[in-house]
Amino acid sequence: MKKEELESFRSELLSLRQRLVGNMRYLSEAAQSQSEENGNMRGGAPLHPAETGSDNFEQEFTMSLMENENRALEMVEHALKRIEEGTYGTCESCGERIPKARLKAIPFTSLCVKCAEAHEKGEA
Ligand SMILES: [Zn+2]
Repeated sequence: MKKEELESFRSELLSLRQRLVGNMRYLSEAAQSQSEENGNMRGGAPLHPAETGSDNFEQEFTMSLMENENRALEMVEHALKRIEEGTYGTCESCGERIPKARLKAIPFTSLCVKCAEAHEKGEA
């Protein structure tokens, strides 16, 4: 892969990482304020028991969003490391080159289409 191409993927990944870190911060603040609200409700007499349930749901939802963001962030970090190592753009499973169209769509992928599909099937 050309150096300029690698650089453009790197800057793409860096801005993606920045966005994910920002999302994580936002979500963790949201989760914290949600849990404080829940705590306050538990401490006092809940006037609206139905709402307590929906707040717990909200918090769980935030947590699952955070998990997704965290996983994406790990993949982005991993891809950045592979750029440093010079292995970016090759499939981690079969060693084949990953098509650029795929890298442009998912810059943090580390598997070619074939292996990603096999991986998904294996996990299901
Ligand atoms: Zn592969």
